[in-house]
Amino acid sequence: MSTQRFQALDSLNKLQETPPVIPQGKISDYFGVDVFSKEQMRQYLPKDVYEGVIASIDSGKRIDRKIANQVASGMKAWAMERGATHYTHWFQPLNDSTAEKHDAFFEPIVGGGSFEFFSGDLLVQQEPDASSFPNGGLRNTFEARGYSAWDPSSPAFIVDNTLCIPSIFVAYTGEALDFKTPLLKSLNALDKAAVEVAQYFDKDVNKVYATLGWEQEYFLVDEALYNARPDLTQTGRTLMGHTAAKDQQLDDHYWGSIPQRVANFMKDFEYRAYRLGIPIKTRHNEVAPNQFECAPMFEEANIAVDHNTLLMTLMRRTASKHHLKVLFHEKPFMGVNGSGKHCNWSLATDTGVNLLAPGKTPKTNMQFLAFFVCTLKAAKDHGTLMMASIASATNAHRLGGHEAPPGILSVFAGSTINSILDEVEKRISDRKLTPDEKTEIKLDIGKIPEILLDNTDRNRTSPFAFTGNRFEFRATGSSSNCALPLIVLNSAVTVQLRRFKAEVEKLIAKNVKKDEAILQVIRKFIIDSKKIRFEGNNYSEEWQKEAARRGLRGITNVPQAFKEYMMPESIEMFESVGTLTRTELAARYEVKNETYLKKVQIESRVMADLAANHIIPTAIKYQNILIRNVKGLKEIFGEDYYEMAKEEIRTIKEISNHVKYIREHSHMMVEARKKWNAVESIIERAMGYSEEVLPYLDDIREHIDKLELIVDDQLWPLPKYRELMSFN
Ligand code: ADP
Ligand code: MG
Repeated sequence: MSTQRFQALDSLNKLQETPPVIPQGKISDYFGVDVFSKEQMRQYLPKDVYEGVIASIDSGKRIDRKIANQVASGMKAWAMERGATHYTHWFQPLNDSTAEKHDAFFEPIVGGGSFEFFSGDLLVQQEPDASSFPNGGLRNTFEARGYSAWDPSSPAFIVDNTLCIPSIFVAYTGEALDFKTPLLKSLNALDKAAVEVAQYFDKDVNKVYATLGWEQEYFLVDEALYNARPDLTQTGRTLMGHTAAKDQQLDDHYWGSIPQRVANFMKDFEYRAYRLGIPIKTRHNEVAPNQFECAPMFEEANIAVDHNTLLMTLMRRTASKHHLKVLFHEKPFMGVNGSGKHCNWSLATDTGVNLLAPGKTPKTNMQFLAFFVCTLKAAKDHGTLMMASIASATNAHRLGGHEAPPGILSVFAGSTINSILDEVEKRISDRKLTPDEKTEIKLDIGKIPEILLDNTDRNRTSPFAFTGNRFEFRATGSSSNCALPLIVLNSAVTVQLRRFKAEVEKLIAKNVKKDEAILQVIRKFIIDSKKIRFEGNNYSEEWQKEAARRGLRGITNVPQAFKEYMMPESIEMFESVGTLTRTELAARYEVKNETYLKKVQIESRVMADLAANHIIPTAIKYQNILIRNVKGLKEIFGEDYYEMAKEEIRTIKEISNHVKYIREHSHMMVEARKKWNAVESIIERAMGYSEEVLPYLDDIREHIDKLELIVDDQLWPLPKYRELMSFN
């Protein structure tokens, strides 16, 4: 009798619902109370210090050491009044999580007594050991040491009596060891390039922010059932498990009523999120059973990235209070939809204009078109790199198929924009326009409706869709840090904005009027990026063929996709923008491959272990029951037994066949691992694992899943899909 599974199932019935403790009243009463916001800074810092911090936030420059001490003392006072006893630099190393090391404000005094201490030095810089975080060989060539440095553009906050100071993490030699450093660099470069183009249309624009609104999908599983699945606890996904008879085929989960236990969990983590200033707006059931989504109001991209990573941590913590486990894996269950993290991206000015939203006048629409075509062109020149930025061992299980975009990047513009782009392309030419032509074009451009948010004009199969006032990058995986796709997107768009400006200036120098010069460059960009536009079904086979015909490269194999980082055009692009150097890219490339190969290695080990220690013994136990039964039939009925036992004998044979297959292939999988473990190069090893180890996981699984259908339910050791996904 399999005890763990049944104990877990038993405990479900005893579970008390844990209602969240949430104060009555409006969310705005407690929104942001745990954040050292600008408003709090104004109260706790002297005026000149406050202005110094704001200036450094706006300029992206490091904080002046002289004022750091005063900021630290204000921050400490604020935090201690709210019960904080510790502080930590909070940063995002190159793995799937955030890092923190808590230090107490408390300082004992030699000889007795103690006091609470926090200085500007401690606020501004700390020195974690870089060699213990993924660093892609940067520690070998240089010193192991790294330091984390305060990022004043993201406000400090308190979690669980610890003051968390959002920070960047870099090696002593200056190379970035995190996601945030290159993100901030890309945002600064984008700001400058975008301001220059925006000023063609409005001289008052002095700053452009990238905005990000993410949509986080996730699964919830009961904690006891989760703990009874070693594959879930070790790899984040089920490596085996037959699909349930009923899962998502009746389309009855999406936007269905939220189960009470889940609603309690949601309210609980949302409350904590609100206190931390995370503006959650939306919650709903997703397509698969036990799958849900939450989405905030969009924010300035750097803050939105921090808020997403912070929220994932909050959700994990809150889940355990409700005896739940939250799964951010992109594909925890085969046969039902996986989870993504759509990244909605746009550009906003300090004058309050969304540069990717059509406006009321031909002028604002021309501005919109300028930014639109620069994004198009960025996607066309670096689309494969964009897809590489979302490639991972876990996301690979989700891409393609009929639930998520395939590995080829294309842009969906929508019928209105599409026809405008075609008009501009047709009507303008390199020669000087006649006054009539000018009027007609202005009319065309003026025709773009201000509000394009029409749900009928959505393409949910597109990896990069324009949705009326923003682009939605839909291929990003649920577990990933959204900084990575943003670093690529921001940098690629920066390059095009610079090019756009340079080309307009060239024409102006040749005495072409500004308006006409802008139109001509818009047209050029439309023509140059034509092959990236696709309005049809991205999931279809025709698109695969069509994309090949257009010469669009897609990504299929994950280590192969990583090679995009080291392509000359990618290195050139990142270096010209100043986002990442060749050395940093090489380090990231290595980290990516190493993470990939380790994840596949862990999965392969867990698979072999479960097959040998859980599945095969169970199958044999059940087979012996059948054998005893057949023997018994023979004893009682003599030669007549055969007619009666024929099917059972067939099942006995079938079990043997599956067991044999699983044994042999487990053995072959281990041999393949050995072969590739002996290969020195991490890059080659990762490729070897993807081509020669990974396929065994699916092969073996298929036979285990068949056994699950045959073997006595009472004996089966692992909670089944119908049990794991049973919230309704
Ligand atoms: P849907 O679910 O249909 O895609 P929603 O209205 O739920 O659309 O919005 C999805 C996300 O898009 C939200 O996180 C929202 O904040 C974000 N969003 C809306 N406008 C912008 C913008 N200008 N920049 C970035 N994100 C945006
Ligand atoms: Mg969306």
